[in-house]
Amino acid sequence: FLSIQNIKKTYGNLTAVENVSMEIKPGEFMTFLGPSGSGKSTTLYILAGFQDPTAGDILLNGKSLLSTPSHQRNIGMVFQRYTLFPHLSVGENVAFPLRVRKVNNAEIAERVNNVLKLVRLEGFAERMPAAMSGGQQQRVALARALVYNPPVLLMDEPLSALDKKLREEIQLEIRRIHQQTGVTILYVTHDQEEALRLSDRIALFNQGNIEQIGSGQELYANPATRFVADFIGDSN
Ligand code: ATP
Ligand code: MG
Repeated sequence: FLSIQNIKKTYGNLTAVENVSMEIKPGEFMTFLGPSGSGKSTTLYILAGFQDPTAGDILLNGKSLLSTPSHQRNIGMVFQRYTLFPHLSVGENVAFPLRVRKVNNAEIAERVNNVLKLVRLEGFAERMPAAMSGGQQQRVALARALVYNPPVLLMDEPLSALDKKLREEIQLEIRRIHQQTGVTILYVTHDQEEALRLSDRIALFNQGNIEQIGSGQELYANPATRFVADFIGDSN
């Protein structure tokens, strides 16, 4: 379905991603876990099309994504910090990807309504982002990323700016939305507990490479390397 093949990314003489490959199944929840600077975000940005890899390829349903510009990749994205348009209402923020795609107004109204329901923000369409809490804003960002039904959703530490209680609440929301929509999710975190709670599989990054890919249980019970054993064992 989604095939990441020998991705490499260098900045001058710094290697951000050395060699990353993985096969992701449709509907899978895959988490990139690993220490700061290990190449998780860079890999995600290459998938999103914000960065070009130095080498390697990405195939979606057998077709290379690299020649497709970012906004035509049909890949939704949610970032760490709130990235809503501050001058647009919640409804217009969510509608934005549909307006770009020239969807007609009746359909926009219906889809915005449905996706706001999905993230449990019915009735908030007229609000301005500044009048929403951090958790609500992230749910709006999630709604905006999902509104055009992308087959793949990328999330880069979407909850790290939230306090613990809110984080756990939205983790449950994300899990429910994943089950309800069947969207394939690639999720970046350095929170091991969060990774274990959400993921079908975890790719453990270390210095631009993947040490091991497997379920949390597999990584825990059968660590492939010393690094995996140390990282998963310790509560970082
Ligand atoms: P974190 O958990 O801190 O977000 P990460 O695993 O997401 O870390 P990346 O952001 O992918 O790490 O960064 C990998 C390496 O590449 C780091 O050493 C980083 O400093 C470097 N890097 C990332 N983006 C750039 C850039 N635009 N220019 C130069 N170096 C970069
Ligand atoms: Mg990062």
